[in-house]
Amino acid sequence: MAKLNENFGNLKKNYLFIEIAKRIKAYSEQNPDEAKKLIRMGIGDVTRPLAPVVVDAMVKAAKEMGEMETFRGYEDSGAGYDFLREAVSKYYKSFGADVPAEEIRISDGAKSDCGNIISIFGSGNTVLVTDPAYPVYVDSNIMNGNSVIFADSTEENGFNAMPDKNVKADLIYLCSPNNPTGSAYSKEQLKEWVDYALANDAVIIYDAAYEAFITEDNIPRSIYCIEGAKKCAIEICSLSKTASFTGTRCGYTVVPFDLVRKNSKGEDIKIADLWARRQGSCFNGVSYPVQRAAEAVFTEEGQKQCRENIAYYQENARIIMNALDEIGIKYTGGVNSPYVWLKCPNGMDSWAFFDMLLTKVQVVGTPGAGFGKNGDGWFRLTSFSTHEKTAEAMERVKSLLK
Ligand SMILES: *Cc1c(COP(=O)(O)O)cnc(C)c1O
Repeated sequence: MAKLNENFGNLKKNYLFIEIAKRIKAYSEQNPDEAKKLIRMGIGDVTRPLAPVVVDAMVKAAKEMGEMETFRGYEDSGAGYDFLREAVSKYYKSFGADVPAEEIRISDGAKSDCGNIISIFGSGNTVLVTDPAYPVYVDSNIMNGNSVIFADSTEENGFNAMPDKNVKADLIYLCSPNNPTGSAYSKEQLKEWVDYALANDAVIIYDAAYEAFITEDNIPRSIYCIEGAKKCAIEICSLSKTASFTGTRCGYTVVPFDLVRKNSKGEDIKIADLWARRQGSCFNGVSYPVQRAAEAVFTEEGQKQCRENIAYYQENARIIMNALDEIGIKYTGGVNSPYVWLKCPNGMDSWAFFDMLLTKVQVVGTPGAGFGKNGDGWFRLTSFSTHEKTAEAMERVKSLLK
């Protein structure tokens, strides 16, 4: 009889977005007229289309695939074409991180690599995740039979959980700028994590999916802007939020060659070799047209066009922040992130606040409680809507809470 992976039974029910949909449906059925005014400020997906140069590159590559002379089948290494790995390497250089192309592997997005990376680590690791967090870090560990401990991101630490010398973690998941809190680590804070990892022979798995939203100088765009990080950190990044690739699918993961840990025989093992083997065995690379499209993102014109979309979202974040400032509601995020994470007024819990916004002003956001225990009492609004809808939603929120 086929035995099942019963670790799946230990996963928490993924009920956040199901519960949101259920509450919207119930409200809409009882209040069909009001429901027409609904504005969704909870989406975690981009809305601006792909940049024109990206589309052109994808079309051109698709045509190459239709000609005998230029057709491409399997990619030799599956690590990504050199043209794209070189482009990513140059991009890293533009914000002061030294990442050679050979250390970069192209992926179909950050989520798969965030989930799969755990397979190169053994059992018995103490795995540390900041709370609240993007769910894949915890879920992938539970599926693999690992338990997880949490570092608290709270109002007191600005939702930037910091290392605790009394806790010995082996694997550490960090996401900066953070989803859901929008907070981001400064150079000094990230240095503390790097120093902690080096002192403990731990490995940091660093999710940089929102790096392109960073506006402040002291917030690093990559963990490799921090000295020592190449000896202790894997970085996972994505074009999803930076270049509207959520439906196109492309990302990249860096495992530095200096990242070496000992096996149980005391031999030095390059972690990049394990990841290369894992991907070589279980992944066959990203489609050629998508890699050409991704290459176009990193051209001068591609950066210019993608930055326009990001600026559009940043303007929405400003509209949200200005409204919250006016009514005196506390928040993090928005400045280096498409997310604004606000404190529910009058000590309300996240779901009560969700219901209030839904039923009183027909604005939908995401209850913070869905991302971990420290999310309760907090609420996420996203800047991925239009200017018009964002402004209208915030006018309604202001009129309700003033
Ligand atoms: C959206 C997001 C990603 C990107 O995932 P893709 O699979 O590349 O679309 C990664 N990490 C976080 C925290 C995200 O919010």
